[in-house]
Amino acid sequence: MDTKDFDVVAMRTDLHQIPELGFNEHKTSDYVAAKLKEMGLEPIRGIGGTGVVAYIDGTEPGPTVMLRADMDALPFVIDGKDACIHACGHDSHTAMVLATAAKLIGHVKKGRVKLFFQPAEETLFGALKSYDDGVLDDVDYAFGAHVRPIQDIPDGTVCAAVRHTSSTFCIVELKGKVAHGSRPHLGASVVEAAVLATNAVNSLWVNPNKAWSAKVTSIDCASTATNIIPDKGKMILDIRAQDNETKTELLEKLKTAITNACACVNVTCEITFPGGVIPAAVYDEDLVDQVRKTIGEVLGEEKVAKDCGGGGEDFHYFKQKKPELHAAYIGVGTGVTPGLHDPRMTMNPESLRNGVKVLEKLILNVVG
Ligand SMILES: [Zn+2]
Ligand SMILES: [Zn+2]
Repeated sequence: MDTKDFDVVAMRTDLHQIPELGFNEHKTSDYVAAKLKEMGLEPIRGIGGTGVVAYIDGTEPGPTVMLRADMDALPFVIDGKDACIHACGHDSHTAMVLATAAKLIGHVKKGRVKLFFQPAEETLFGALKSYDDGVLDDVDYAFGAHVRPIQDIPDGTVCAAVRHTSSTFCIVELKGKVAHGSRPHLGASVVEAAVLATNAVNSLWVNPNKAWSAKVTSIDCASTATNIIPDKGKMILDIRAQDNETKTELLEKLKTAITNACACVNVTCEITFPGGVIPAAVYDEDLVDQVRKTIGEVLGEEKVAKDCGGGGEDFHYFKQKKPELHAAYIGVGTGVTPGLHDPRMTMNPESLRNGVKVLEKLILNVVG
């Protein structure tokens, strides 16, 4: 096997041509499985739906180190037509893990490396479905990586930790009582409830030394006439918190505020979190320090970027589900511009080579 056949830039170009939405990564997982077979590995298909796993075994017993890439792309509507684009760089992550795997073959001594190509990160259910399929059962360490925008870290640098926030959205279904506009005292208006609930949310306080936010992003009271007191409505809120303790406190206060605000005008509400609640990143700080040291050794001290943050990642369900897991997640500066999740997203693929070098060394630190 020649590692030149598994060039990260070339594989990223291939994958960029076949963007697919979460749980529909059929061509992508076919590509991944074919590359793994070319390396002499045995791909296991169907993990969490369209996910793929393969092992690189060492000769002595030892820990299992999982290297995880996500595979899905994002939906857009461009000029009135549906489009699917790799605007979050998951093509880059898949290519980096494949390229790293090719370099690791023949160098794993103790334990084993578990390559995991995860479906549907953007839906926020890919990690959970894969967990249900047992992907974490044999895993001691989990490493992940994401390309970073130019606003986070400079192109060509790598940071030791991406400190993702906890994020979620909730849907509030409002139920009031219909009445004629001339007899509002006989009804219960969901519009008044939505206004009160919005103000209650905007009056919430959680420790201001922590970063958090909760904001109403949609109110729909489905009014059918100017003179009917509406009895059904829906609100949507986007919610973020820097750490999981802040998130728990914020969600409790938020539910109380909305429920009580609605009760003021005799409206009842049901609050649900259909997208789940993505946990904030929790890392072993000792491991993060080692990762930082490794980046310096591999790329030079001037290429070690400061940790960056923001956004959510379903990777963090792994640590929540298995607290004893040693988790680390690097940010690879590739000059992403204008930003992630922008359909015009472009980046410097050459910088992915830094990510491959760092991931290879991080894994060999454990199993080499
Ligand atoms: Zn994304
Ligand atoms: Zn992403």
